[in-house]
Amino acid sequence: MRLISETACAPAQTPAHNLPSYLQPDGLGPWGNYLQQVDRVLPHLGNLSRWVETLKRPKRILIVDVPIELDNGTVAHFEGYRVQHNVSRGPGKGGVRFHQDVTLSEVMALAAWMSIKNAAVNVPYGGAKGGVRVDPRLLSRGELERMTRRYTSEIGIIIGPNQDIPAPDVNTNEQTMAWMMDTYSMNVGATTTGVVTGKPVDLGGSLGRKEATGRGVYTVGQLACQHLGLSVAGARVAVQGLGNVGGVAARLFAQAGARVVAVQDHSGTIYSDAGLDIHALLAHVQAYGGVAGFAPAQALESEAFWQLESDILIPAALEQQITPERALRLQTRLILEGANGPTLASADDILAERNILVVPDVIANAGGVTVSYFEWVQDFSSFFWDEEEIKRRLVRVMTEAFDAVWQVADERRVSLRTAAFIVACRRILHTRELRGLYP
Ligand code: NAD
Repeated sequence: MRLISETACAPAQTPAHNLPSYLQPDGLGPWGNYLQQVDRVLPHLGNLSRWVETLKRPKRILIVDVPIELDNGTVAHFEGYRVQHNVSRGPGKGGVRFHQDVTLSEVMALAAWMSIKNAAVNVPYGGAKGGVRVDPRLLSRGELERMTRRYTSEIGIIIGPNQDIPAPDVNTNEQTMAWMMDTYSMNVGATTTGVVTGKPVDLGGSLGRKEATGRGVYTVGQLACQHLGLSVAGARVAVQGLGNVGGVAARLFAQAGARVVAVQDHSGTIYSDAGLDIHALLAHVQAYGGVAGFAPAQALESEAFWQLESDILIPAALEQQITPERALRLQTRLILEGANGPTLASADDILAERNILVVPDVIANAGGVTVSYFEWVQDFSSFFWDEEEIKRRLVRVMTEAFDAVWQVADERRVSLRTAAFIVACRRILHTRELRGLYP
């Protein structure tokens, strides 16, 4: 695939003075990064571009105070958010993140990326995201439960199985979803399993949901390798983040004969030219909380991770990891974005020039929301599918989405990211146009 320069045809951004203060581009922050991505799509939208402002303004932003009583009897207040970016195609859908660095800008960008992702893989959802500015490691289990329940109650006025359906994200899990589902159900007076996804299987959760995102990363990785003429067996894989997404993706690549040569997480960076024993490493992470100290591997200084030789690089930890400086140093052929927003727009151009193929987050990590969609459908019908059925349907959705995006990228000679945005924005803005403006 040959790319043309996308910056050359990007129009100027919306004049800042027309935007509310919280929508001002935030420099290199996540929301600013998202706005740059939308601007690149504008020249490809034809008549639909008259609706593009709708993508630059979240539909609804809720900021809530979350007070709880701590175990020592004092009261602590946390700031919580739920942002519904766009609901033209269906209810809002997106995870909830508990992290001390959560900001409104970040939640807005994550909600917007959910709109794009859901439209890119063609599930009937809009985009939403939530977060609480808290370090959950500093709370006891009881405090965490009280915080989760109060947050759920506060955002209860805008969530619901037909309105907005949260799911797990960084530092939230099945237990968090069980508490959220129970709190919402208590408030409305009826068990409402479809209000969240990513629940425990015994509580209306879906088989295959826990590993769906990593499996989706692996599925699109296989397809991208075919296009590159790269064999998965024997390919060298480097992974940042060995959590829910990176851990599963690394395991599936290893099972297919790839060599996972490097892993970086919050605790350190490890390397083995012969390939890491992923099962032993995952057991080590389970026991010690991180990859640091995994004896069969060589420990590296963290910045060295970005210039290791690999065939496939999977950023599956945090946003804004691939900066222009790192993009210049990378020695890989294929990037599969397991994390949301790991690459800066300015780094994308460098990667394109260096002929490094990027499968963007909105496609690569869409396996999670796809199986969340299956979970929601199963909850509504109270009829549950077996795991093989879920895997089969997941591979089908991911393959169709990847192929559609690849075709647009080929036709328009743009990156897969811009192609995914073109496919998604067209779908969102088309429904916007069909629905028209109220009143
Ligand atoms: P997780 O909490 O299970 O794992 C996060 C991993 O990132 C851990 O291995 C952690 O050690 C590592 N990490 C944290 N800080 C780091 C740092 N400073 N440097 C290097 N590594 C660091 O989270 P997850 O669910 O695997 O999510 C990872 C990313 O994938 C996030 O961007 C999330 O939004 C995205 N994502 C997750 C899902 C899902 O279904 N879980 C779906 C789509 C996208």
